[in-house]
Amino acid sequence: MTAKLIKGTEIREEILEEITGEVAEIKEKQGKVPGLVTILVGENPASQSYVTLKIKTAHRVGFKEVQDTRSEDISEQELLSLIDQYNQDDSIHGILVQLPLPKHIDEKKILNAIDPDKDVDGFHPVNVGRLMIGGDEVKFPPCTPAGIQEMIVRAGVETSGAETVVVGRSNIVGKPIANMMLQKGPGANSTVTVVHTRTKDMESHCKRADILIVAAGVPGLVKPEWIKPGACVIDVGVNRVGEKPSKKDPNKMVAILKGDVDFDAAKEIAGSITPVPGGVGPMTITMLMRNTLLSLKYRLGLV
Ligand code: NAP
Repeated sequence: MTAKLIKGTEIREEILEEITGEVAEIKEKQGKVPGLVTILVGENPASQSYVTLKIKTAHRVGFKEVQDTRSEDISEQELLSLIDQYNQDDSIHGILVQLPLPKHIDEKKILNAIDPDKDVDGFHPVNVGRLMIGGDEVKFPPCTPAGIQEMIVRAGVETSGAETVVVGRSNIVGKPIANMMLQKGPGANSTVTVVHTRTKDMESHCKRADILIVAAGVPGLVKPEWIKPGACVIDVGVNRVGEKPSKKDPNKMVAILKGDVDFDAAKEIAGSITPVPGGVGPMTITMLMRNTLLSLKYRLGLV
């Protein structure tokens, strides 16, 4: 059997088209567009490229986008004042602070200063609490888990009553996706098991999974024989395992990326599977756009 490929690159295009349409409609009827600010401190090249991609995507879907770059020596107090300024700015609906921050700044203090109603990353403790309660309480589901759930739903995989096994218990992927899959409601209602480094006999848990979500950061951790025939496998892992010359410019080296699942063997057993790259990766920024649009819709009373 060859599994159906769940391609994040294709789902991203569908969702960005939907967002673009909604933004245009709201702009026409209400004269408002979602506003997203990304705050970048310093010149970390990886952070710069993440921020550039976020801003480019925001521009593409018709948002007001602001890239606010500050020097490495900004004080914690100055950064807190800047966040407060955007908290008060009615044209801004989403505030993102690109991590990591310089060592002299307390990241937790900065992230907790963002107005929870503009916390489109969904990491503020208030939004984590809302996610735990579920239902109408949820304002901004965190972007990577929201992307995972969206892929499962759009692939037509039945989640209700399914055995969902999550490998990994991080605050940004494992715990929130486990929580989301067990909620009462569409795209959820699963029976959820979470496994981690202290789990005894991980294989036996994975083998039961109708939906297997792997977010460990260990290349090839999940062996093909751990996969139940026909299961939906979502591989969140992104691991640099080497370098190769770029297709566009053979003089430039690019990273070779592998997931946490042995893809070539797993695709012969699973019913559906995400590739790496091109699977979960493109969904994170897409869901960030959706959360920013949601933020404006909450403000306008449209949801
Ligand atoms: P993390 O914070 O390092 O957490 C990894 C989790 O996996 C931990 O809970 C750890 O267990 C568990 N784990 C690690 N090795 C394991 C093993 N051998 N057996 C069982 N469990 C194991 O990582 P993360 O931030 O969740 O990210 C996980 C992966 O997803 C990374 O490759 C990351 O790059 C990728 N990622 C991709 C996206 C995206 O595509 N948009 C977004 C976020 C993350 P313990 O808690 O017991 O240590």
